[in-house]
Parts: sequence; structure tokens; C-alpha cells
Amino acid sequence: MTEALVVTGLDAFYGEVQALRGFELSLMKGEVLCLLGRNGAGKTTALKAIMGLVSVRAGTIVKDGKDLAQLPAHEVPKTGVAYVPQGRRLFAEMTVAENLEIGLMTRGKGKATRDAVIDLFPVLRERLNQRSGTLSGGEQQMLAMARALCLEPDVLLLDEPTEGLMPSMIARIRETVAALRERGVSTILVEQRVDAVLSLADRVAFIENGQNRETVPVDAVRAYPGFLHRYVGVG
Ligand code: ATP
Repeated sequence: MTEALVVTGLDAFYGEVQALRGFELSLMKGEVLCLLGRNGAGKTTALKAIMGLVSVRAGTIVKDGKDLAQLPAHEVPKTGVAYVPQGRRLFAEMTVAENLEIGLMTRGKGKATRDAVIDLFPVLRERLNQRSGTLSGGEQQMLAMARALCLEPDVLLLDEPTEGLMPSMIARIRETVAALRERGVSTILVEQRVDAVLSLADRVAFIENGQNRETVPVDAVRAYPGFLHRYVGVG
């Protein structure tokens, strides 16, 4: 297996507060890698650092031979890395179609991409002219994922995509991530729900105090609940 993204020695800061210390991660092509750790461990910061959205003072983030840490934030999505932040961050005043258009423009994609993405989330087809701020929570999450997929990413970063959703929507999001894996997309998933992690992840990377700890196959997490006890406080 080859790597889709390799992070080494990352130090990330909010002002003078250091949130990541020598953080490392290897994302393999076509895998779902879950980041697990307690509140404040640095999971969200790890995704933001990859996207260039926090101050990175040391380390590398290598994709296709290019160091993303050297790029301005607006260049990162153009390399094929798409990010769905916690809380979705849609343009609430814009319609569904306009939000999708922003995703398409990022990498110059067109109608074929748009049609393929809408096929994944048919509920959006009926709502293309609706203001996105008036969608339900589940629909907004679909739209946030759809907008990310309009980049035709090969690396997808998802921050708690099932937070606050009802079970049918959670299942839909899971199915979508699994379907994208079948197409070779590599995903880093930040997820609090251990059941969701166990059902979807290929590997689990534990994070504590801004540092990476063990990265293990999901079967090992099932077999040794002590991992969860130690790093998440459950199990
Ligand atoms: P959670 O599960 O609660 O979202 P997390 O693992 O995603 O936690 P981060 O949000 O990455 O954790 O936070 C890591 C550390 O950075 C925490 O100590 C947090 O207080 C700090 N931090 C996060 N955002 C900021 C910010 N905007 N300014 C200052 N410190 C921040």
C-alpha cells in the first residue's frame, strides 16, 4: 500500500499556545483512518493544520511529493484535499446550487462532477434552489459533504460528520464514506462515537495532548478495549 498523505514532526499553535507537538500521521491510499482522543487532544487542530488553517511552525505534510505546509491555505484544496469542518460552515444565505458551485470552482470541475455528486445525495436535487441555511441539520451535512466531493478529492478530512444527526442520516453518511473508499478516496475521520469508528475505520490513530500515540488496525481496538479506556476514557 502506498501513502496518500504523510505528516511528520508537526508543531501547530494558536497564538503562543501549542496545540500539536511533533504530530505524525500516515494515511494510506483508500483507507479510512480515524483520529480518536479526548476533548482538546488536538484532533480538530490536526485537520486544520493539514488545511493550512492554523499556524504550523515545524513539520511537513506531504502529498504527491508536495509539502502542503508550504502552501497558503487557499492552495491546499486545489491539490485534492477536501475538508468538511465540524459545524459544516456552509454559506447559509446561498442556495444549495451555489454552495455546490463553490466546490466545483475550486478545482475547475463541471457538470459531470456535479451530477455524480448529486446522485450520491439525491435529497439535494429537490432542494437546489433552497437557501442552505433553511435545510435540516442532516441535509446541511449532506450538502457540506457534497460540496467537498465537488473537488473530486483523493483525500477527504471529516470532522465529526455525524454529530447531532438522526440515525438514518448517520447511516447515510457512513455509507457514503464507505462508497468513497471503494473508489479509492482516502479519509481521515474525527469521530467521537466509538461505534461509528469501529464500524467504518480501517485503522485508528490515537492522539493525546497534541501528540500522536499508537496507530493500530481497527481489529486491535475491538480486541483490546484498553486502547479506548486509555485514550478516550471509555471501554
Ligand atoms: P474536541 O473533541 O473537544 O473538539 P479536539 O481533540 O478536536 O477536541 P482541538 O479542538 O484540536 O481538540 O484543540 C486542541 C487544543 O487547542 C485544546 O487545548 C484547545 O483548547 C486549543 N484550541 C483549539 N482552538 C483554539 C483557538 N482557536 N485558540 C486557542 N486555543 C485553541
